[in-house]
Amino acid sequence: MDKVRLGRTEIYINKNGFGALPIQRVSKEEAAVILRKAYDNGVRLFDTARAYTDSEEKLNYALSDVREHIYITTKTMAENADDFWKDLETSLKTLGTGYIDVYQFHNPPFCPKPGGKDGLYDAMLEAKRQGKIRHIGITNHRLLVAQEAIESGLYDTLQFPFSYLSSDNEKKLAEQCKEKDMGFLAMKALAGGLINKSALAYAFMNEYDHVLPIWGIQRESELDEFLSYQENPPKLEGETAAQIAKDAKAFQGEFCRGCGYCMPCPAGIEINNCARMSLLIRRAVSANFLNEETQEKMRKIEDCLECGQCRAKCPYGLDTPELLKKNYKDYQEVLEGKAI
Ligand code: SF4
Ligand code: SF4
Repeated sequence: MDKVRLGRTEIYINKNGFGALPIQRVSKEEAAVILRKAYDNGVRLFDTARAYTDSEEKLNYALSDVREHIYITTKTMAENADDFWKDLETSLKTLGTGYIDVYQFHNPPFCPKPGGKDGLYDAMLEAKRQGKIRHIGITNHRLLVAQEAIESGLYDTLQFPFSYLSSDNEKKLAEQCKEKDMGFLAMKALAGGLINKSALAYAFMNEYDHVLPIWGIQRESELDEFLSYQENPPKLEGETAAQIAKDAKAFQGEFCRGCGYCMPCPAGIEINNCARMSLLIRRAVSANFLNEETQEKMRKIEDCLECGQCRAKCPYGLDTPELLKKNYKDYQEVLEGKAI
């Protein structure tokens, strides 16, 4: 079984991390079956967030009896120390635990530091002193914030979108974390659905011994796929390497990752899917995206107010309104049978 050492946290675990965002969408009992199966098959790190509605509660329900054998990473979106403490106390209670293994700032627009007016980093240090958290982490979608966090030396882990479709600068972040002995938690390891063969994603991750992919898992069948790689890890060679190189070439340039950080849209446009519809209809089963419901969502692009909010919020610097228009045009051509 492949293992990961999460930098100076000295957390040393199975290569499969469990991303507990999608279990919000299934019942408590279904979530418990999946979480328990993951644990029984060696998965040891479970990543959640205060913002993921009942995800922490479901982790508690499924895994409280094995708490000392697992690692829990959760996150706070607090913008000040008071809210930080409220979030931390709520997470501890909801998770039914006395400590969080890695407590992470959840995608802050800046890198919290000691002495900051927000008081966030000082609160982290105090929480660590009190034994309520064991390690300090940060998650982000912005390259510059991530770089600053690494250079600051203040963080034990970084969580960042990372896959074989990542840009060279994003891949460099993983190398920099290694140099600083930081753990790297890879979110969106399937690039928000654009990578449709998980074996390829796993093979890529296996090249990095300090990178833990946090697979977002909602169905038992998805879990089974990842578990199967523990016995037979796909290698970055031969046909696998060729396919990855082909995909990476196809995704050169700017594309929407589907992160949703530009939302909500005042015109009600579902930007995180509509701005990458051209890719979705070609990478996934296109019939899934040509139905009336999706057509309706795409038509909403016509209501764009050109307010520019989405462009300003996109951490990838995309011209989002323009991208939406391009995707809408392409989508209409596909519907009319002129393209695919
Ligand atoms: S520019 Fe258009 S798509 Fe972007 S937030 Fe404004 S209304 Fe929504
Ligand atoms: S446009 Fe940017 S912020 Fe919005 S979903 Fe796509 S990548 Fe994320």
